[in-house]
Amino acid sequence: MSEDFAELFFTDVIVKKIEIREISPCTADPERIKFLAQADRPLEDVLPILYLAIPNAKYSEKLGALSYMHQQHLITIFANGRITMTYVKDRDEANRLVEEARRLINRAFIYLKTHGKPSREMIQAKKELTPVKIYELLPKTNCKKCGEQGCFAFATKLLNGEKRLQECILLDSKEHIACKFQIEKMVSPIRLK
Ligand code: SF4
Repeated sequence: MSEDFAELFFTDVIVKKIEIREISPCTADPERIKFLAQADRPLEDVLPILYLAIPNAKYSEKLGALSYMHQQHLITIFANGRITMTYVKDRDEANRLVEEARRLINRAFIYLKTHGKPSREMIQAKKELTPVKIYELLPKTNCKKCGEQGCFAFATKLLNGEKRLQECILLDSKEHIACKFQIEKMVSPIRLK
């Protein structure tokens, strides 16, 4: 099902609009902007799904907030529908990022509608994920083909979202492919289509 068609099909549950409300200079670089936007519905129900789908996401149920790095932007999504983004080039980039976020959030709403809420166990397992657990499944050759000094550094950066799993090309070999799938499942137990 194409994304646009899916949105039409689930029109009663999706976010139709995210409005940019406040723009200010970015703290890290005043040449860039940060902004606050507001979705047209609360997002509390999809935060756990987004947490399980975005490899480097951090999630606090207590604060009702999920944050993650996307390219160079720190994106935070709040249960009440507020969304903030930092290190944005200009208004055009802000509009593009907002639309990308809207589509991602809607895929999470569609997941919720079709699969229900994820279990507490799934959320807890991701919260307990550490670089050591990922390292154990890597080839452990320290070959540096990923651009890192070794497998442990790679595991740490993978969990922070600074590296992608595809950058360890050894994981594509017959010997390691099962470990690759296992790591994928650990960092993104939910895949949003
Ligand atoms: S490419 Fe893979 S095996 Fe080589 S150092 Fe990086 S993580 Fe380790």
